[in-house]
Amino acid sequence: MSREQARQVLKEAQRIAVATHVSPDADAISSAIGLVQILRRLGKTAEAFCDDDLPARLKALPHAGEIARIARGPFDLLVSLDASDPGRLGKAFAELQGIPLLNIDHHITNTHFGTINWIDPSAVATSEMVLWLAEDLGVTLDAELASILLAGIVGDTMGLRTANVSARVMHEVTRLMEAGASLPALVDALFNRRPLAAIRLFGQALAEARMEDGVIWTVITREMRAASGLTHANDLSLSSFLIGAEEARIAAVFTERDDGKVEVSMRARPGYDVARVALAFGGGGHPPAAGCLLPGPLEEAIPPILRALKAAAQNSQGKTPGEP
Ligand code: 5GP
Ligand code: MN
Repeated sequence: MSREQARQVLKEAQRIAVATHVSPDADAISSAIGLVQILRRLGKTAEAFCDDDLPARLKALPHAGEIARIARGPFDLLVSLDASDPGRLGKAFAELQGIPLLNIDHHITNTHFGTINWIDPSAVATSEMVLWLAEDLGVTLDAELASILLAGIVGDTMGLRTANVSARVMHEVTRLMEAGASLPALVDALFNRRPLAAIRLFGQALAEARMEDGVIWTVITREMRAASGLTHANDLSLSSFLIGAEEARIAAVFTERDDGKVEVSMRARPGYDVARVALAFGGGGHPPAAGCLLPGPLEEAIPPILRALKAAAQNSQGKTPGEP
């Protein structure tokens, strides 16, 4: 299924509900708001949904305040963005049945759960795919739309620093900047601003990090989060920092949620694959960055994941000669 089919169904639809995944990141919110703005510019009715709270840094994006949690009709098309399986949408579409679902995503682990699926793991962000749609649908970029779409590209590439950033992506970033988006402002908002409490919690979890068989890992318990006063511990990007350890091939952070479930955030150096591990445990992601949600308690959630990650750390795809 293709980009052309996605363009076609979007062109034909009139009332469109666009949903993105729970625990939203910049790409989730950016692609959802971006597509809604594109569709509205074409004279359609479009609304964005996310069945979760938005972290503060994403609430500041234009139109983020208009995102509602649960879609209630009438709609003639549903669009899922950046979600690799339907569970990631929470209850956003739970009250709507029998409506075609267009599934747009860049996760290699996507389960193709839509009526129409456009899955492109070569895209650095779902927002990049939405940018392609804007072109295909003949919508001109203005400063606001460019800024919304650049937020997702910058978010998923860690500020244009990941291994998949190509000349193509840089050309697109240039076009978005020419249309009025500010790269420095987005990098600052998405990566350089965090509450002091988050920095302290980050330090505490770093101090506890352990290194075993090429896997560096740490835990954020409910008690640690409660003591810090932080609600969105996954905003820490701690796994992305841990994978910077020279001795590590894989990094993992286990975060205990208030409901007792355990969020696992995983990272791999180029040539290693955590998406397969995440998928085996009901989650998903990309080879270098993936996640899953496990039933608690921590003591039961951690050992099987660590076993799988240690096996993955022995399994180089041979892309990185000289790696530890
Ligand atoms: P992060 O570690 O930054 O939260 O997530 C890394 C990647 O894994 C992102 O692409 C994210 O969408 C995906 N991911 C994280 N948690 C889950 C999960 O529980 N289920 C699925 N399907 N994907 C996840
Ligand atoms: Mn994404």
